Amino acid sequence: MNKSKDFLRRVVEEDLKSGKYQEVVTRFPPEPNGFPHIGHAKSIAINFGIAKDYNGHCNLRMDDTNPTTEDTKFVEALKDAVEWLGFKWDKDVYFTSDYFQKLYDYAIKLIKMEKAYIDSLNEDKIREYRGTVTTAGKRSQYANRTVEENLDLFKRMKNGEFKEGEHILRAKIDMSSPNMKMRDPLLYRIRHAHHFRAGDNWAIYPMYDFAHPLSDYIEGITHSICTLEFENNRDIYNWLLDTLELEPPRPYQYEFARLNISYTVMSKRKLLELVESGDINGWDDPRMPTIAGLRRRGYTPESILNFCDQIGVAKANSIVDVAQLEYSIRDDLNTKVPRVMSVLEPLKVTIENYEGEESITASYYPHDVPKEGSRELPFSKEIYINRDDFSENPPKGYYRLTPNQPVRLRYAYIISCKEIIKDNNGEIIEIIAEYYPNSKSGEDKSDIKVKSAIQWVEAKSAKEIEVRVYDRLFKNENPQGVEDLNPNSLKIIKNALIEPAVIEQKPDTRFQFEREGYFYADPIDYTDKKPTFNKIVSLKDSWAKKKKRSQNKPQPQPKKIQIDGEVVPMSRKEEELFNKYTKELKLNSEVANTLARDKRLSFFYKEALKEFNSPITIANIVTNEVTRELKQKNINELKFTPKDIAKLVQMIDNETISTKIAKQVYEEMAKNGVNPIEIVESKDLKQISDPNIILPIINDIISKNPENVEKYKNGNKKLFGFFVGQVLKATKGKGNPKVVNELVSKRLK
Ligand code: ATP
Ligand code: MG
Repeated sequence: MNKSKDFLRRVVEEDLKSGKYQEVVTRFPPEPNGFPHIGHAKSIAINFGIAKDYNGHCNLRMDDTNPTTEDTKFVEALKDAVEWLGFKWDKDVYFTSDYFQKLYDYAIKLIKMEKAYIDSLNEDKIREYRGTVTTAGKRSQYANRTVEENLDLFKRMKNGEFKEGEHILRAKIDMSSPNMKMRDPLLYRIRHAHHFRAGDNWAIYPMYDFAHPLSDYIEGITHSICTLEFENNRDIYNWLLDTLELEPPRPYQYEFARLNISYTVMSKRKLLELVESGDINGWDDPRMPTIAGLRRRGYTPESILNFCDQIGVAKANSIVDVAQLEYSIRDDLNTKVPRVMSVLEPLKVTIENYEGEESITASYYPHDVPKEGSRELPFSKEIYINRDDFSENPPKGYYRLTPNQPVRLRYAYIISCKEIIKDNNGEIIEIIAEYYPNSKSGEDKSDIKVKSAIQWVEAKSAKEIEVRVYDRLFKNENPQGVEDLNPNSLKIIKNALIEPAVIEQKPDTRFQFEREGYFYADPIDYTDKKPTFNKIVSLKDSWAKKKKRSQNKPQPQPKKIQIDGEVVPMSRKEEELFNKYTKELKLNSEVANTLARDKRLSFFYKEALKEFNSPITIANIVTNEVTRELKQKNINELKFTPKDIAKLVQMIDNETISTKIAKQVYEEMAKNGVNPIEIVESKDLKQISDPNIILPIINDIISKNPENVEKYKNGNKKLFGFFVGQVLKATKGKGNPKVVNELVSKRLK
């Protein structure tokens, strides 16, 4: 994508051009205290990606300075993750613990330069002396110790002569620095703990702020890329490397926004809690956002790298919609993987008038027929179809098999229902059907009309499989931990059926089970006796719909056109539209796909565009909102016209209203058919962008939340969202988020 454009690559290019460095050297420096997650994938993609793009190299360094939480099994998981994503580290895996002696020597040098001292204040006093964002700190009385005294104490600390917390090594910088981190930061602390590599050699361990810049320097790193929380640590990074007067060249630190994803927790600590809670099955549970979990679920490395590429490298924190990650795997598999037939909830069908058996050749890539590859589908009198592909009392718009409506068996014949057999409880256990001999797919000479085709498997040859269907691990968008787990995140289907060809494939193959989703043989639990498949992702994002449905009354079933949209190849016309949408109008392919495949939507879209030329905003509203309405109504039954939607979009684009308010206006339009401009006027929904109105609100909120202001200024940048949220709330959602963001950020500086 826009690789050459992101700000890190620009810096690197500049530095290579100016000759600052001969070669770019980056590193990925995880702490081996948990399995890496999708956030680490972003960091891996950036660090290894940059090194690769500019012919440099990237080190894999375990930042193992905290002996109590680290373990070799995590080292292995980190190595696996980097390799699986397709990257190679330079030479060996490095460990910060390999530099313990060198780091110790640097500390001695600092002490000798009178730039570091042993402090013996306790933790509370250290905090108290540090001061606050508005008041200067005060230096400890121990800072006056002589160099000899400091050297002696430091050595004895190292040898384990003191208790934890008794002494600490600090840099002597500036107790009144506006950057709190620069107020004599801690460099070494006493820890009587066994280190998984260094053993019991050390009773002191270096702090991140000391170990990290120096490890970077020791390895000849040029660009030390980290996440935004370390912005304020950059001053220490520079101070340390400058003060020690190291031989150039030296590395510099750059920060980017860490990845956050909705419905996901993204911290090894929280993931560890999940693992320890026993609510999931270990670090590589396919529901986990760990790389091991995604891999076991069936994600491909390509899909994850594409995802990282698409979210880009930014300097502002944000939350990425988990649907985007799901889209990336769907997009990767859509054209690549074979399409096969499964029956997840079998219902037996006996075709009364069929005798004998035959074998039907079916392409694995029906969406892309020139692509070679096919398999044989056995066919006989007894088959299974999905339970919900038959309906005795069909709702309106049900296009599959009913007592009065024939259906096509995909690749095979048209059948109709002759008799329904039920058990004592009234549950349907079998359908007796009839087939039309001259209706075979591809050579159909019958004139029977069907509205859809369904998947099936032949009874004798079908294989029984276990299918694990996953839903999101958390039930809310911004989960905190165990308490937010979605109790329905795993559904196990024990007796699903699959066509025999699937079982004969190589183990690492992914499939599309037509109309069901993408599936992957579980690499751990799959056995010949119990073939087990993980559902990687569904064919479409069903979550948004589901959420609405559970909140409202049950909705009529959406209409199904011929098989699911994903399975049917696009017609020429649809494809033309799709190309126009993606290339000319720059719509993303998911939106373009929805619009192009639906005549009514694309018509509506075209009409709205004529009124106001804002292709992307209009497309979003049409595919997200109008489509819902059109599932139950015809265009001429809608309460609003394309022109009304254009007016609404115009107000969004010229910032008269926020997108949030736009949703509210839309709901009103859809319900009552009032013109959007009138709604905005009469309900006084205009966006507030005037700083003279917004600033007093911000001031008010700041004065009511002194503690959060303090925390924010001390580095808890997450609270930024809190302030913005409060201000938006105070304006009843009418504050212009952009303006509010800017003003809050200025005001909190
Ligand atoms: P966690 O909170 O999950 O333990 P961390 O930041 O402590 O994460 P490390 O193992 O210390 O994890 O991080 C290794 C590298 O990965 C660091 O450079 C860190 O900035 C980066 N990283 C960690 N989490 C993310 C994320 N969510 N998005 C992008 N980069 C991340
Ligand atoms: Mg960490």
